[in-house]
Amino acid sequence: MTNRLSLAMPSKGRLREPSWSLLEASGVAPQEPGERVLQTYCRNADIDLLFVRADDVPEYVQDGVVDCGITGRDLVAEGNYDVEVLLNLGFGYCSLQVAVPTESTFTSLKDLDGLRIATSHPTIAQRALDEAGITAELISVGGSVEIAPRLGLAEGIIDLVSTGSTLRTNGLRSIETIFESEAVVIGRRGATASQNRNTLVTMLQSVIEARKSRYLLFNVPTKYLAEVVAELPTAGSPSVLTLADSDVVSVHALVPASDIWALMPKLEAKGASAILTLPIERMVR
Ligand code: AMP
Repeated sequence: MTNRLSLAMPSKGRLREPSWSLLEASGVAPQEPGERVLQTYCRNADIDLLFVRADDVPEYVQDGVVDCGITGRDLVAEGNYDVEVLLNLGFGYCSLQVAVPTESTFTSLKDLDGLRIATSHPTIAQRALDEAGITAELISVGGSVEIAPRLGLAEGIIDLVSTGSTLRTNGLRSIETIFESEAVVIGRRGATASQNRNTLVTMLQSVIEARKSRYLLFNVPTKYLAEVVAELPTAGSPSVLTLADSDVVSVHALVPASDIWALMPKLEAKGASAILTLPIERMVR
């Protein structure tokens, strides 16, 4: 019996590149596959990689063809696959939104009761209709959903949106979000977590956590230390190092990357200098 872990990766599309770079950043050193190669392995870990379309990944995992896979949460829900989400990956963010022509007076999904809605996600759409307690005719289309209202095919659409620019370009306006999605690692439900699987999830998670944080260091006159430390958005206590100049200390702390913009000017105003922020490669809490 082999202890190798098989992982299905998106072979193309928008999840391919970020999945691959996350895997590389986690340190598993995948052997670069050539064009059209559907399988490869990792040089320093017992992991085999299989490249398939993102929407086929859940099926492969559910059926036990592979141990784990990377795909979109929307694809798992749309196919009603019985798999376990092991980790949210922090990219591939999008949501399924109900949209109508800009000039229409509709303001919520309920306003589309009895009308027609074009979508490429009929399962999730039907669930939303049931929850809203309305009926609508779902027109299932494979792509270019946004054009359906202009063609007179439907009064509204339910489609994946990330920035909203495609909706705007097509004269549509979002009126409700029915599902939030991001890329996820999935595993077969009920499968025993192997050492390899745990390690993979921990290492991927360590990169995702690290991407959300920065290592902050700065100098501050000792007399302002308490005031400056009070400004730091850190969960733990910062390190304070003495310097050759005894009137000044160096402060080191982990801070959320999203707080840096607001934090820097505050630190400066309170007497901090030589403020540096550094990216972090991996972080296991
Ligand atoms: P692909 O069709 O292979 O490019 O992958 C589509 C998957 O990427 C979707 O199922 C979503 O999980 C994810 N995704 C992220 N943003 C978007 C978007 N704006 N439109 C469509 N899919 C998106």
